[in-house]
Amino acid sequence: MKPQDLVRPEILALKAYPVASSQGMVKLDAMENPYALPEPLRRELAAVLARVELNRYPTPSPQRLREALARRMQVPAGMEVLLGNGSDELIQMLITALARPGAAMMYPSPTFVMYAMGATFSGMRAVPVPLREDFSLDADAFIARMQAEKPALVFLAYPNNPTGVLYPEADVARIIRASPGLVVLDEAYHVFAGKSFLPRLAEFDNLVVIRTVSKLGLAGIRLGYLAGRPEWVAELDKVRPPYNVSVLTQAAALFMLERLEVLEEQASRIRLERKNLGDSLRALKGVTVFPSEANFFLIRVPDAERAYQGLKQQNVLVRNLHPGIRGCLRVTVGTPDENRILVNALREALQ
Ligand code: PMP
Repeated sequence: MKPQDLVRPEILALKAYPVASSQGMVKLDAMENPYALPEPLRRELAAVLARVELNRYPTPSPQRLREALARRMQVPAGMEVLLGNGSDELIQMLITALARPGAAMMYPSPTFVMYAMGATFSGMRAVPVPLREDFSLDADAFIARMQAEKPALVFLAYPNNPTGVLYPEADVARIIRASPGLVVLDEAYHVFAGKSFLPRLAEFDNLVVIRTVSKLGLAGIRLGYLAGRPEWVAELDKVRPPYNVSVLTQAAALFMLERLEVLEEQASRIRLERKNLGDSLRALKGVTVFPSEANFFLIRVPDAERAYQGLKQQNVLVRNLHPGIRGCLRVTVGTPDENRILVNALREALQ
């Protein structure tokens, strides 16, 4: 028997989400926080994790963690929190719940690839709406397309990945109001943008906000959260795998939420470095840097494949988006040292 005879053709046609090997590399491909936790904190965390009962299943919908997140992230009163194994899983849960036969999903394109992947997994009809040349959003065109396609689900990454663009708040609000379906605002990079629709949740009955602790410095623990009206959360909770957030993740997240200032301080260093890295990249001949409100830059170079390989030879790993986005690489903001290595290596690679 061959898998090809049984696996759905649209899955056979997919490529798995690409993750390049990063051993020994300056890792600037995945928008991680480059800073480790301070040593005393690591020791304290180790002691907390040592007390976790690994023989027990996790609490299925851990109230303490949901409450701590709601408090520390300022989820408005009356809204509920749903947890995911990364926001990746929340995206999948949203799609699973809304994928009625024939239902459409719409999103500006290019954007985070897992929306389209999820549509394929669940048989939703994906409708990508192209962004402008400079990756800004034509809200009128988007709304017109929504009226034609009537999507059940709209994804807006705020700011967007891989472009770093933060769409104007008024345009986003207009899209939410005009949407015939649920709008998911994906705020994975909110700590770097300082803008959020979380405080405005009560204004809309068709909005949920998803976030992650990944970019804040906890990508390894895999924890995402969704905030929305209780009636949305109640339905979405039905498709959540029962033990989706591990005991270790719950314990580590609770511990870090009590010490959030450590991660917020790191994020403010990253915002500062974003400015420096942006300036240095802009100074390189032949490089176009798109403005970013996230912890990465989309850059256009004369030959993206050659630049990518040239960087790799110098042990610098970035993300090659070409040919999907013509001539473009995406580079994560790292430590000052990492950024210096990146800029020097890129200068060399462009020779
Ligand atoms: N949304 C966006 C826009 C992202 O860029 C990413 C990660 N690259 C995610 C969601 C998923 O993040 P995680 O699963 O780590 O929470």
